[in-house]
Amino acid sequence: MRYKVYFVGAGPGDPGLITLKGLEILRQADVVIYDYLVDKRILSEAQKGAELICCDKLGKKRSGDGFILHQEKINSLIVKRAKEGKKVIRLKNGDVSIFSRWSQELEALAKEKIEFEVVPGVTAASAAACLSGIPLTDRNFASSVVMITGREDPRKEKSVLNWQSLAKCGTIVLYMAVENLANIVKWLKQAGKTFDTPVAIVENASLLTQKVLVGSLKDIAAKARKNKVKPPAIIIIGEVVKLERKFNWLKKTERTLFTGISPERFFEKGIIIHLPLIKIMPLEDYSEFNRAVKDIGSHNWIVFSSRYGVKYFFERLNKIGLDARNFSQAKISAIGNSTRNRLLDFGVITNLVPKEESSLGLLKEFKNVDIRNQRIFLPRSDIADKGLTQGLQAQGAKVTATVVYRNVMPDNLPDLDLEFFDEIMFTSPSGVRNFVKRYGSLPKKVRVRCIGEVTLKEARKWNLSD
Ligand code: SAH
Repeated sequence: MRYKVYFVGAGPGDPGLITLKGLEILRQADVVIYDYLVDKRILSEAQKGAELICCDKLGKKRSGDGFILHQEKINSLIVKRAKEGKKVIRLKNGDVSIFSRWSQELEALAKEKIEFEVVPGVTAASAAACLSGIPLTDRNFASSVVMITGREDPRKEKSVLNWQSLAKCGTIVLYMAVENLANIVKWLKQAGKTFDTPVAIVENASLLTQKVLVGSLKDIAAKARKNKVKPPAIIIIGEVVKLERKFNWLKKTERTLFTGISPERFFEKGIIIHLPLIKIMPLEDYSEFNRAVKDIGSHNWIVFSSRYGVKYFFERLNKIGLDARNFSQAKISAIGNSTRNRLLDFGVITNLVPKEESSLGLLKEFKNVDIRNQRIFLPRSDIADKGLTQGLQAQGAKVTATVVYRNVMPDNLPDLDLEFFDEIMFTSPSGVRNFVKRYGSLPKKVRVRCIGEVTLKEARKWNLSD
């Protein structure tokens, strides 16, 4: 059996910018051959055991005359894996059809009569434009836009591009142009573009490290050097750049770095940038849980302290052939409303949710219930603090506390310019600890907001909060 090969545009950086279709294909692939510019966080969506191959390792990065040879290596790898009967996805940075040597990969497939499908992606130019508030076209300033590669051999005396006609275009967007910027500016001036034509450089568009630098043809090359602009960057030239000052929404709004794992809060005031500092994973070994849960029917209460506890509890329960009927006598308690709602997904109605959604709130509420000598089953995370178990025991209950999931630090956490943020939000003590482990300390200007007393206590412990 031979499968077709999928070419998918991953978008320019932010993992959220891949299309839904692209993501589904990535989740089903056996082999992921990805550009080095593809954000590594997207790769965690691939199925367990999928082979992940970075084109950088194959040498796709610029390397003078070796470039074509390396492209051939990529081509033959796609062909080889497809012929082996693997489900191959070629995950490309930005859009598939723009400056990506796509046709060469297609030729290689055509030669072997391997079928393919394509899913477009967000190209860097539109991400750079949208995320800096610069419309690429505008009825007052530009009715056309042209995309150009700035990667010409710098040793060449003359450019192969026709700068005379390019200079007449409304908006000019340059890809791969950082190293050659001084020459491009020179060629545009020679072609008659005026010195005061506005220019913007958007570095790392859509990533947490995005930077926007604005100038004119006169000073942009010097400014770029001074500010040490590095690829990947998009350069936008034309009158539309004037609008950046008015519409650069990302720069003008308060920015909060949200480090929890609840769903993105898109409609909150200010901009919430989501970077989960914790990751929920299954355990490697469930033998202890399996042993404990076999006795679930003898418990009077089951206390769920998180929605992940609910998910993994039922998953594991079902795996050994049990379900909610096995604890039909037990009462159910959830620490808060999201946990209560998750229980409903499994057809289970909660008997008790504390008004104050925390371990302490739960313990307070249990004081109104006589739990002396009652057996309580408590599925929990590997790093849960012992407070809840001890509190319940102090009220006379017999607690079976069993680990059912792990709370770990995500790998591939990106480097951050923390000065970019006005506020950071922590939702759990483990998020605080992982932050300290990965990023050390916070600049003074960044406010700290903690959800819950326990989280605040942890932030204080690490001097992140007063
Ligand atoms: N197929 C890609 C382009 C690949 S060429 C697309 O459609 O976007 C690589 C160039 O794309 C880089 O040199 C840079 O100019 C641009 N680029 C890619 N990712 C970028 C990003 N996050 N920010 C700014 N420019 C980016």
